[in-house]
Amino acid sequence: MRPIDYTAAQDTKGAIEKLAARPADAVAIGGGTNLVDLMKIHVQNPALLVDINGLPLSDIQEVDGGLRIGALVRNSDLAYHPLVRERYPVLSEAILAGASPQLRNLATVGGNILQRTRCSYFRDISQPCNKREPGSGCGAQGGFNRMHAVLGTSDKCIAVNPSDMNVALAALEATVHISGPQGERKVAFGDFHLLPGSTPEKESVLQPGELITHVTLPASRVAAKSRYVKVRDRASYAFALASAAVAIELDGKTIKDARVALGGVGTKPWRSLEAEKALIGQPADEVRFKAAAAAALKGAKPQNDNAFKVELARRTLVRALSLAAGIA
Ligand code: SF4
Repeated sequence: MRPIDYTAAQDTKGAIEKLAARPADAVAIGGGTNLVDLMKIHVQNPALLVDINGLPLSDIQEVDGGLRIGALVRNSDLAYHPLVRERYPVLSEAILAGASPQLRNLATVGGNILQRTRCSYFRDISQPCNKREPGSGCGAQGGFNRMHAVLGTSDKCIAVNPSDMNVALAALEATVHISGPQGERKVAFGDFHLLPGSTPEKESVLQPGELITHVTLPASRVAAKSRYVKVRDRASYAFALASAAVAIELDGKTIKDARVALGGVGTKPWRSLEAEKALIGQPADEVRFKAAAAAALKGAKPQNDNAFKVELARRTLVRALSLAAGIA
């Protein structure tokens, strides 16, 4: 039996003080759907849980034509919010494509952003894993890696970022707002998650003692015509083999603006500026969509079991673009 301390924070300042006082072994707990899961299999072993559920971070507000989303907003509440469904449908679709209704009722936006990989070697403490135990090796490379990444990998780690919501937030150019002992700061969503490189244990720019307080989405014309397509092994409650979050604004039959992000294939939520460049100013047709898909996967590096993901991701992206453009 391993003792775990528990404390409930009353406000953001108090939560940060508690987290910062024990930076090595304290973690914040909101919905706990990922954290408790990992604690039960001894992958994550905090000695102090700081319960942040009492903090006033559960609001969704319209700000400057965009949205301000509290870190404790439950996934279900965000997915079914009328403004999200109307202005950012890709976000609603992505959230509803993930997990189960029960999990979505409990899981929070902040926790979903920080959701950890489903790599089976990471989740098995008898196996080597550089992310869980730096320097121990990577069981997935040379092991069974059908679910692993083909973009953004390194010789130290090839694990996929598992979140569907994150793919939509990448396409929507969200901003992550953080509070910590040094004050407040904000980080563009594309800069929040880190590539594994030589330090796969560092998954984001969040520092010990810091807390995600909210996320903002900019006002966006392109987001109104946005879609999420996810391909998985079974119809529900499964992680993506490949997914695509896209948004398209048309001027007649020409693509005036576009956003593209991929899931299930990248070590972080994978925004593809290359695909967007291949689309903007071009006719909205299958030829251009295939060209964009080729651009998005150009740097893919498959492992021994997951080469199929490259073509699957291309086709998933073409499908999503066709739906967003209304030609599917
Ligand atoms: Fe660990 Fe990453 Fe290798 Fe999986 S892919 S075993 S998470 S180092």
